[in-house]
Amino acid sequence: MILDRFERPLRSLRVSVTDRCNLRCQYCMPETDYVWLPRDNVLSFEEIGRIVDAFTETGVDRVRLTGGEPLLRRDLPRLVEALAARSAIHDLALTTNGVLLMQHAHALKLAGLHRITVSLDTLDPHRFATLTRFDEHRAVMAGIDAAASVGFRSLKIDSVVIRGVNDGELVDLLEYGRHVGAEVRFIEYMDVGGATRWTPEAVVSRREMLRALESRFGPVVPVAEETSAPADRYALPDGTVFGIISSTTEPFCASCDRSRLTADGMWLMCLYAKAGTDFRRPLRAGATQEELVQLIRTMWSLRADRGAEERLASERRLPLIPLAALKKDAHLEMHTRGG
Ligand code: SAM
Ligand code: SF4
Ligand code: SF4
Repeated sequence: MILDRFERPLRSLRVSVTDRCNLRCQYCMPETDYVWLPRDNVLSFEEIGRIVDAFTETGVDRVRLTGGEPLLRRDLPRLVEALAARSAIHDLALTTNGVLLMQHAHALKLAGLHRITVSLDTLDPHRFATLTRFDEHRAVMAGIDAAASVGFRSLKIDSVVIRGVNDGELVDLLEYGRHVGAEVRFIEYMDVGGATRWTPEAVVSRREMLRALESRFGPVVPVAEETSAPADRYALPDGTVFGIISSTTEPFCASCDRSRLTADGMWLMCLYAKAGTDFRRPLRAGATQEELVQLIRTMWSLRADRGAEERLASERRLPLIPLAALKKDAHLEMHTRGG
């Protein structure tokens, strides 16, 4: 196990398998056009496997596949199968917008995927279309049904809460989650790269969310647990458990053991990082496994990132990256980083 400068171990890796997406969520991809990663730079499954092996050698045992939209990557179950066969990976998960999930849920389960998280911010098809710019609500709901019936170890629904957009739907989303057997997690709207329309006023804090839920359900109690998971979990009086990810108003950088690999092999040690470490070049230049492992050890031991805490401390909070800078470097975008 390796520790960074704040004694945080490296345990978890999010692997983005594509930067392309079939939605355009307002809080992630609000613009009309985008700069994409060159296709030749996108890692093959074999290259991803080699990099993941280097990470597991340093102590990573949790891997999450993400995007862009990961189900747009052709033959994704083949990658899932290859990763599921690695005994060093104890937790293999996927985050998806669910649009293509109905077609793929069964194959993903067969390939050995453990857990699945579907992003769904609203139960209203019109609001969904406004929020994502695509009329795919029905497909996502069918995808969630398919994932529920296939029976993954866990099924979660992640909802970004935005004031004046879907903040009136917390209760309905929780009830929907209970109905389909999914744990709902509410995410505070973050000022990450790509969120060019972000304003502090649009953020609904964890405190406000709890207040809204308590006024409907009665006292909500925290679920006591020792984990580095980003969501704090709570239980309703009837036992229903849900999570809140309070990255914006109460960040949890002190226990952050996560990092992310973009589809073209850029390793980012923080969601807010402005630069990363390129793995594609050394890999394609013939680096040995030992050299990749050493690169991870060196860079992680230098890590001092605490991006969300620094953002919280900044006086006048505006979107993180100006649009002109985003247009020059796709790596700065949330949809490239995978969330
Ligand atoms: N396309 C897939 C999906 O939407 O689930 C995977 C990639 S997406 C970038 C991963 C997660 O990031 C999603 O749950 C999404 O809601 C979240 N996300 C994107 N932009 C965000 C923002 N500005 N604030 C909070 N969460 C955000
Ligand atoms: Fe929405 Fe995910 Fe696509 Fe971003 S990457 S636009 S959050 S579906
Ligand atoms: Fe980890 Fe960076 Fe997020 Fe803080 S802001 S929790 S250091 S990824």
